[in-house]
Amino acid sequence: MRSPIPSPPVPPTQYGEGGLQAPTRHSVDWKNPQFYDEPALLQELERVFELCHGCRRCVSLCAAFPTLFDLVDASTTLEVDGVDKQDYGKVVEQCYLCDLCYQTKCPYIPPHEWNIDFPHLMLRAKAVQFRKGGASVGEKIMSSTDAVGKLAAIPIVVNAVNAANRAKPWRKLLERAVGVHPQADLPRYHRDTLRRRWANRLPAHAEPTEPKPAESTKPTQPAPTFHSPAPEDGKAAIFATCFGNYNEPDLGEDLIKVLAHNRIQVRLVAQERCCGMPKLELGDLPAVEKAKQANIPALAELVKQGWAIIAPVPSCVLMLRQELPLLFSHDEAVQQVAKAVFDPFEYLMRRHRAGLLNTAFKKSLGKVAYHVACHQRVQKIGLQTKHCLQLAPNTEVVAIERCSGHNGTYGIKSKFYEKARKIARPVVHKVKQANADHYGSDCPMAGRFIEHGMADDSKTEHPISLLRIAYGI
Ligand code: SF4
Ligand code: SF4
Repeated sequence: MRSPIPSPPVPPTQYGEGGLQAPTRHSVDWKNPQFYDEPALLQELERVFELCHGCRRCVSLCAAFPTLFDLVDASTTLEVDGVDKQDYGKVVEQCYLCDLCYQTKCPYIPPHEWNIDFPHLMLRAKAVQFRKGGASVGEKIMSSTDAVGKLAAIPIVVNAVNAANRAKPWRKLLERAVGVHPQADLPRYHRDTLRRRWANRLPAHAEPTEPKPAESTKPTQPAPTFHSPAPEDGKAAIFATCFGNYNEPDLGEDLIKVLAHNRIQVRLVAQERCCGMPKLELGDLPAVEKAKQANIPALAELVKQGWAIIAPVPSCVLMLRQELPLLFSHDEAVQQVAKAVFDPFEYLMRRHRAGLLNTAFKKSLGKVAYHVACHQRVQKIGLQTKHCLQLAPNTEVVAIERCSGHNGTYGIKSKFYEKARKIARPVVHKVKQANADHYGSDCPMAGRFIEHGMADDSKTEHPISLLRIAYGI
């Protein structure tokens, strides 16, 4: 019998609130049978809910916490013990695993003796529910981004899918069949996917376009010794991501051109599957493992050959660098890949600090209203996108650090659509208030969600596409 889900003993006086110890995070012991023990799960949910009720710091982050506090306030005891355990699921379903409560708010994360990891407790509850058959057919389809993308991008199918997704009768059917809200803005599919572009014409553009390293504001420093591929090495393999391949191939193309303009050797990862994030959000951990088994060997081989990995979607970077290592803590290849995965702007700014970024910008961007994606914020890399765009002349970037409301499939499901739009409202308001020349988000899905909320003819532009404009390429 394996040991129960660990709650490491820590001396309270040493690890109390306000302690100076660095936070740690326990791996997710999801293969332990105890992980799926329902009475133990309910006990842990009650323990953590009680602590959250006494704290309430996270009330503004998402709908999970207000749902919990409303349940408590409506109970006869006004405490968690008065909440029907059957209602715990109402809190769990509002969590889309953005990780913000853990990474930016909670003072009670390990090594604090209370040992709170709210997102991973929600993940455990979702995994238990999934194992019991709690996911609908619609949720399973929506989270199969690879399969849906492959089908929708077939040349004779793609136009029909895009047209149908904008036709009211079809959207009503779609709502009834899979629970997609009829007003949700569904992504368009492209027959000319990023992979097709790469196969047909992009490698020509991936050659460096400048004869020598362009002028830099900083002197070149001697290259440090790295154990894993680093931005300073100048070799980047792009993990296209389902969204980048099927829905936003222009973004991938812009990324390739920006990298090539910086004399970085670029290639696509030869073959890839969805990173697994949509399945994680559903609690389908065996599917996450399958995605890991499909992706990691190829990525690990690239890393061995000195390629850093870049993904244009923050959720996919987060999955590869933070979630998979916690789910598969004993998998050496997963850990090695995690060290070599970069956010695009993190990669570019590392090169800038080493004096290797082309700073010969040809165009100003003016004012940019920039939404910082939650899945990027929790990577704790700082505002690299803002700093990079502001290298362009006469460019001011206004950063908006609030949830966009999209959150994977949360913002398109009928069940959550109104709540998602409510979450988005302050961000849309700030974008309007900025009266900027451009707006966009590191997360292309969040950018589209904001665009939908703008309800005018304005268009979101991804920061990488803005960088390409600033370079004039
Ligand atoms: S992980 Fe995100 S969505 Fe889930 S409870 Fe925390 S802040 Fe809310
Ligand atoms: S997750 Fe932490 S910070 Fe947030 S409400 Fe619960 S105890 Fe407070």
